[in-house]
Amino acid sequence: MHKDTVAVAAGRPEHAHDAPVNPPVVLTSTYRGVGEVSGEDRSYARAANPTWEAFEEVLAELEEAPCPALAYASGMAAIAAVLSLVPVGGTLVVPRHSYQGTVQLARRWEDRGILTVRTVDIADTAAVLAALDGADMLWIESPTNPMLEVAELPALLAAARERGVLSCVDNTFATPLLQQPLTLGAHLVVHSATKYLSGHSDVLMGAVLCATAELRQRLHAQRTLEGAVPGPFECWLALRGLRTLAVRVERSMASAAELALRMREHPAVAGVRYPGLPGDPGHERAVAQFAGGFGSVLAVVLHDDAAAAEHLVSGLRVWTPATSLGGVESLVERRRRHPDEPRTVPENLLRLSVGIENVADLWQDLVPGLDALADR
Ligand SMILES: *Cc1c(COP(=O)(O)O)cnc(C)c1O
Repeated sequence: MHKDTVAVAAGRPEHAHDAPVNPPVVLTSTYRGVGEVSGEDRSYARAANPTWEAFEEVLAELEEAPCPALAYASGMAAIAAVLSLVPVGGTLVVPRHSYQGTVQLARRWEDRGILTVRTVDIADTAAVLAALDGADMLWIESPTNPMLEVAELPALLAAARERGVLSCVDNTFATPLLQQPLTLGAHLVVHSATKYLSGHSDVLMGAVLCATAELRQRLHAQRTLEGAVPGPFECWLALRGLRTLAVRVERSMASAAELALRMREHPAVAGVRYPGLPGDPGHERAVAQFAGGFGSVLAVVLHDDAAAAEHLVSGLRVWTPATSLGGVESLVERRRRHPDEPRTVPENLLRLSVGIENVADLWQDLVPGLDALADR
């Protein structure tokens, strides 16, 4: 089946007469049982919940994973779980423009002597391959946040396998509609389900997908002990959002492509980063690697300075000035307002997460502010 069908059809209760169409929100902290507890038993709600299981089944089918996903309380909880697979004293290779929480967490562990961090330009395949020497885990984001660089995913994942390096792809930006890293050799995939998967900026959740049952078993045992599990209602909301993933993403990608073209032509704009734009550094790779589109996040660098960028954002009415991405509502943010954003991200760069509003309204909202900058 196609992914848009899977998103709707998978993870439903059995097709019995009078069965509910949707899985229920199962609110329980424990499960009935007598006798010795086996690995098949739910037993206690930190280990299992039927509402998670529905979400985990749908996401696994979308990512073409051989076993169900693991739901987590947040994207960062999922990321922390995977990073803890790096052996003590081991080395982690991570893109310099990854999600900043990922880099910060790894740096904290480095400060405590738990692991060593090597940052790389993930678009530079030769540099990444060199950094894999003696490494234990390769972390990949593609496209990256907020520079929208595209990694050569098949080559990097194959190289990691050859060298016995565990690989994980944060697939939050691309979604399983654009790429399925497990099919290219990734050992693990993580998602901030807070973003596109749930899609309505009303839930915080994460997920991990594993290439093998052994990896899943290990992470499942660890999740049960560490307890970074989602609430059943949050998971139900994420599943509800997942049903409309394809229509939301198709619409927002089409608008993002249109806005990227228009922005690039505007005299106030110095440059647009969007892999769908011909001439973008990641365009050729994106054409080869992504199925069906180029995502709905773009970055715009203005000719004017950071203050002008902030002024532009504060005058918008349709766009919401806020961090985060992947929701039905369009968000815009000057990324360097976060003190931890790397200095390699321009101060006057705006990250735009395009939602599902009418693209003409999104554009019209931007025009007065851009025109005013161009006239200065
Ligand atoms: C938001 C985000 C995260 C963190 O997820 P949370 O759900 O906020 O914990 C990780 N990776 C990427 C790419 C993200 O955009």
